[in-house]
Amino acid sequence: MNFELTPVQSELRELARRFVKKNIWPIVEHDEETGTFRPEIIAGLGELGLTGIPVPEALGGAGLGYQEYIVALEEIARASAAYAISVAVTGLPQVILTEGGTDAQKSKYIPPLASGKAIGSFSLSEASSGSDAGSLRTTARLDGSHYILNGTKLWTTQADSASTILLMARTGGPGPKGISAFILEKDTPGLRMGKREKKMGLHISHTMECVLENVRVPIENRVGAEGAGFQVAMNALYAGRITIAAVALGVAATALETAAHHSRERQQFGRPIGELQGVQFMLADMATSLDSARLLVQRAAWLKDNGLPFATEASMAKLAATDMAMQVTTDAVQILGGSGYTQDFPVERLMREAKVLQIVEGTNQVQRMIIGRAVHQQKEF
Ligand SMILES: Cc1cc2nc3c(=O)[nH]c(=O)nc-3n(C[C@H](O)[C@H](O)[C@H](O)COP(=O)(O)OP(=O)(O)OC[C@H]3O[C@@H](n4cnc5c(N)ncnc54)[C@H](O)[C@@H]3O)c2cc1C
Repeated sequence: MNFELTPVQSELRELARRFVKKNIWPIVEHDEETGTFRPEIIAGLGELGLTGIPVPEALGGAGLGYQEYIVALEEIARASAAYAISVAVTGLPQVILTEGGTDAQKSKYIPPLASGKAIGSFSLSEASSGSDAGSLRTTARLDGSHYILNGTKLWTTQADSASTILLMARTGGPGPKGISAFILEKDTPGLRMGKREKKMGLHISHTMECVLENVRVPIENRVGAEGAGFQVAMNALYAGRITIAAVALGVAATALETAAHHSRERQQFGRPIGELQGVQFMLADMATSLDSARLLVQRAAWLKDNGLPFATEASMAKLAATDMAMQVTTDAVQILGGSGYTQDFPVERLMREAKVLQIVEGTNQVQRMIIGRAVHQQKEF
């Protein structure tokens, strides 16, 4: 067992850290306030090879694994959960097409996403189907060489900037087995953006309603077999949960750093508050839970990279890391006292960012359902 980063992982972390310091930290608070998303940041990360880390080099990726991907995502999330999520969501169609796309789909859609020149989206949720994604209603009817899609998707991260959307729609009867997956291109007639959600945080990341009115998608853009779309979506989410967990690590790490710094600087009762046991114990719990979660995230990434079953462990990593981030950011606000509640420090933003991580890519109740089912079958611990 080796707990050190490899030379490649260290190099990636340094690359990401330098880019984030120069390009994201200076704009993040302003852009969160104004809801400004800058595609050039994704392009810049792409130039460094950070937008297609787990994709083969032949398809324009870095040819590395999730163990490298989580290192880069954590670094980006230290400054901005929104940009880290942007990279992670752009990764979803890439990973799905790499693992199950046709050669034509791979060569057409992956290289622009892997290089950061294009942005990707993943569109599963609808108004009436969130956790129960298998009940989605958007329809896709076969008509000669095309499917005709009708319906309204909700919550599609960065659909307004995306050129490639992996979208799930119903081709058959009710339930998960009636769902198929499609690649939709940005300017397809009939596809338009509806409302943009007004959210608690993560304002840089635009969360979009997508309206589909007689959208014609060529049959060759179906991903996997007809009826296999729910499995395609789940495969994306199993892998995606590792990335959301990595984002949570970055959010929590900055919160802890800010709290520890404050505890050294802020004096009360004649000494730094970090010398008070009540504050020290909070810092101790924060650091211990961050490191525990990081180990779970690394394990899930290692399992995936080694071709082993990883879905339950990805749920455990997502559950532990995002609950940890919620607790650590809340405690960081507490340690900063009144200042923690102001926008003079990043911790209130980090707390708002942590909250959404407990909801996206399967709420933490859904993660507990997945883990609980696996544990129910397990004989040895
Ligand atoms: C900022 C943001 C970005 C998003 N981006 C995307 C995206 O890019 N693509 C996409 O497809 N979706 C996206 N989503 C949607 C997200 O995946 C859903 O919000 C999430 O799956 C939960 O669905 P819901 O909001 O409908 O909540 P519901 O499913 O209505 O759940 C409400 C509550 O009930 C609980 N609950 C539901 N079922 C159970 C159960 N069986 N047992 C116990 N508790 C249960 C939930 O945990 C939750 O607490 C995004 C959401 C947000 C907020």
